[in-house]
Order: sequence, then structure tokens, then C-alpha cells
Amino acid sequence: MSVARAQARINVAAIERNCSRLCKELHGGAALCAVVKADGYGHGAVQSAMAALAGGATSLAVASAEEVRELRQGGIRVPVLVMGALSPSELAQALDADAEVVVWREQYLKEVAAAGGGRVHVKFDSGMGRLGTRDHAEASRVVQEARRIPALQLVGVMTHFATADDLKDDGFFMRQLATFANWARAMKAEQPDLVVHAANSAATLRDREAQFDMVRCGIAVYGMDPFGRDPGGRGLEPAMELSSYVAEVKLCPAGESTGYGRRFTAEQDTYLGVLPIGYGDGWRRGLSNNADVLVGGRRYPLVGTVSMDNITVDLGGDPSATKLRGDRAILIGFQGTERITAEEVARRLDTINYEVTCAITPRVPRDYHRDGRPLEEGAPQGRAQALGTSR
Ligand SMILES: *Cc1c(COP(=O)(O)O)cnc(C)c1O
Repeated sequence: MSVARAQARINVAAIERNCSRLCKELHGGAALCAVVKADGYGHGAVQSAMAALAGGATSLAVASAEEVRELRQGGIRVPVLVMGALSPSELAQALDADAEVVVWREQYLKEVAAAGGGRVHVKFDSGMGRLGTRDHAEASRVVQEARRIPALQLVGVMTHFATADDLKDDGFFMRQLATFANWARAMKAEQPDLVVHAANSAATLRDREAQFDMVRCGIAVYGMDPFGRDPGGRGLEPAMELSSYVAEVKLCPAGESTGYGRRFTAEQDTYLGVLPIGYGDGWRRGLSNNADVLVGGRRYPLVGTVSMDNITVDLGGDPSATKLRGDRAILIGFQGTERITAEEVARRLDTINYEVTCAITPRVPRDYHRDGRPLEEGAPQGRAQALGTSR
């Protein structure tokens, strides 16, 4: 396998299998909407979307108008819901791209109608405290209005959970669920084809009652665990591997230091490997003296400060370390029997796995494969690969 300074390899087959796995978790005919916002959580939006659809997802969701445009340009024709707030010009762009949009105020319905109309979902804020209305009566009025205005088609009603990923939650999740379910039941009674949806990945996996007619899964699609645990425990398979290579190996004599601020000084003679990846690639500076890297199937500690373009790892005092020059290095993924997950990196950074893969910058090329084989031409993923080369 060729080496590169920084490379993200994405297994589309893993995304497919994660979606099939999620579909098996659904009951009562609930549909899977795959969330591919933020460039598919750093995995590439178009490729991730195609893999998710191949794995059983029937629609997609994003956060912005620009993200719908990218999917449409990538040849994707399935329904796409824009979940985020839209400025007037963004609303026009989203409707132009045939997206479904989220509404919660009567005034906003008029704006959607004035911008040409389209399909809408009404958002009820059952406790997240961000977008949507907290007021049952207002939510119901917006639903009635959306039905009444000819330019609009009311497709769904939705909410979003604040604590679904917290398994030690004090009951807030259950209260949100009950509040929403009560209101949604009344709306659905008046329009049986209404798509009721609430669950993110965590809610989907923890409670069937939260699945309603559709679930909106993001993190689990990419094989990461919404609860921050080992994804394998839920049958999920990480789709991304992040790698670099050992560009240089040199002796660091006892007492000498490496990197900005001299935050690592060798206690004894040791060989340092230099890997050309850094915070300019999204390997965050908070990982200074605070991460491991796999080389030759073994774990080595990252030492010193993460710079924009380089990191150093301590390969130990044995001169055979010089033989590692040119070897692939894994920052997220498997090597031999060793494994580093996005969840491990997140713990080190005191953040969540979502932020780890989203942080990987556009400087890092995304390469796609299917269980190690190149994507076939002609197959849906082959077509996607052709489209992917323009990124
Ligand atoms: C991002 C997002 C999701 C997906 O959440 P995951 O935890 O990644 O599954 C679902 N719904 C809304 C409104 C979101 O913003």
C-alpha cells in the first residue's frame, strides 16, 4: 500500500453494513434517514450518501443549503432534509435544490411560500432548546397553516433529543419523548401519512419507542458509537482510517528536546520518528504528549508539541527503530492486533468522536475503497468515485 503524508481511507462497505445494521434495529417499518452534514462527518458527503443509500437508507439530511447543492451536484436524487436554520438567500438555494426544510413559525411558512414553496417539516422543541417552538399551540397552528397554504406540502413533524447519548440521564430523555409523542400523535391522527421523526443514533439504539416513522442517524452510519464506547459493542464498524508515514527517524540524545516549546525532553537516548501530519490536517494540538500512533503493529507515544504539519513519536532506544523509516503510521484504525479508535482520540481531547473526524481538514485527501478493493467502475460507488475526484 502506498504511503502519503496524511491520508483518510474510507471503507464504503463499512458504511453500507452500518446502515444495514441500523435498519435491522428499526421496528414498525421505520425508515432510515442518513445524516451526511459536515461533509459526512468528515468522511465525504456524496460518497457517504451513496453508501448509506446502498445500505438501506431511503433519505438524507444535512444542515445547510450548500450541503444539499453538493449532494444534488453529485447526482443524488433522493429526498434531502435541511435541518438547520436558513437565511432568506439560503432558503431560496435549498428550495431550488428541491430540499425539504424545517419550519416552526407562521411567518416562516409565508417566507417559504413566497420563495416558491416546497415540502416542509414542522419542528416542535420538546426540550433541546434550540430550533423549533416550545409552544404546543403554536406548533399545532403552524401544522394547520402548512396544510392550508397551497404552495406548501406538509411532510413531517419532528423534534430532537438533548440527552439521548447519556445513559445515566435522569429521565429527561423519557420526558422529551413523552411530550413529543403526545403532540405528534394528535398531528398524525389528522394526517396519517405524516412522517413523525425524532431519533438520532443514540435514541435509535436505546429506545424503540423513539423511532416513530423515521430515524435520523449520523454518527452510527460512520461506525462510531454515539455513547462514546467501543463501536464494536453495538456491531458498528468504523469506516475511516487516518494514516501518515514515518518520514524520518533520528536519534534524540538524552537531554535534547523536540518541537515547539520543548515540551518533550529525552531522559535517555531515544529514536524519534517524524510524521508529516499536524493540526493543519486536523490532528489537534491538544494531542501534544497525549496520543499514541501505530507503526509496525506497535503503539508508540506521540511526544512533544503537535505542529501544523508534523508530529514526533518516541520509537525507543533500540537502533532497529531506524528500519521503520518509510513505514505507514496509523493514527486512527487497525494495525496488526492494535487499534486506535476515534473514541480513544476523543477521550484524550476531552471531546466526542464526532469532533475528531469532523476536524480532519480538506488538506487530507479522502480515498475510497470497498473492503480493501478499489471501487468498481459502473457500479453506483464507481460512479461516485468518478465524481469524488473533483473534490
Ligand atoms: C446531527 C443531527 C442528527 C444526527 O445525530 P447523530 O447523533 O449523529 O446520529 C439528527 N438530528 C438532528 C436535528 C441533527 O442535527
